[in-house]
Amino acid sequence: MIQAARIVAGFTGAGISTESGIPDFRSPNSPWMRNKPIPFELFLQDPRSRREAWRRKFTMDDLYRGAAPSAGHIGFASLISSGRMPAVITQNIDGLHQASGLAEDQVIELHGNGTYARCLSCGRRHELDWVRYHFERIGDAPECMACRGILKSATISFGQAMPEEPMRRAQKLTAACDLFLVAGSSLVVYPAAAFPAFAKENGARLVIVNRESTPLDKAADLVIHAEIGEVFSKFIA
Ligand code: NAD
Repeated sequence: MIQAARIVAGFTGAGISTESGIPDFRSPNSPWMRNKPIPFELFLQDPRSRREAWRRKFTMDDLYRGAAPSAGHIGFASLISSGRMPAVITQNIDGLHQASGLAEDQVIELHGNGTYARCLSCGRRHELDWVRYHFERIGDAPECMACRGILKSATISFGQAMPEEPMRRAQKLTAACDLFLVAGSSLVVYPAAAFPAFAKENGARLVIVNRESTPLDKAADLVIHAEIGEVFSKFIA
């Protein structure tokens, strides 16, 4: 199918990073489920919730420090360097597609990136080491260096608007592709999960690689219930 395709769209979820040592969201004993999520509005309004969000963020970062790209990430990077896959649309926030050698414009991040922070007022990027240094010294996250706005990890929280540019790019790639290749997503988080469904309706072939079934399995042209590393190591150049 890859050989027959003109344009392949890649699409990944948390399952591609489990072999890097980062647990996914929905599998049993997920550390991400331990706490009730802090909705975006509460983060904006309540300084205590902001402190709690940063405390959780640094705790999780410590758990997965040093995570490196898996065979799945490297397999996707090989497909992209082969020229048929222009970019990978990802729900992940861990930066491991970039760490596998992909350029920023080859990774379309639907839920943002947890490896740095941004000011919610002016958008300026801030590095986490600097935020953490202040957080540990004063018990609070610092204000934006440029405009004194509120800093937040550059991820999309519950209740926060989806990022416009990545959504636009994901829509364009989904509409243009003739093969849509999913790896490691339960396909239950919307609007992200709408992309594979749209690709199929638009005439593309749909392939899903996941260790368990998903709501889109019935619509897919090929479903591989297996470990991602095992499947994607075959594509490593
Ligand atoms: P999910 O946890 O809902 O689903 C992951 C799927 O991958 C599951 O169906 C699981 O069975 C499968 N899976 C796990 N490891 C696998 C492997 N090695 N081989 C084959 N299949 C495997 O993840 P989702 O659909 O991406 O949605 C979760 C949300 O949580 C996303 O919005 C994402 O942003 C966020 N999240 C991101 C990370 C990350 O960046 N690494 C981690 C946890 C959660």
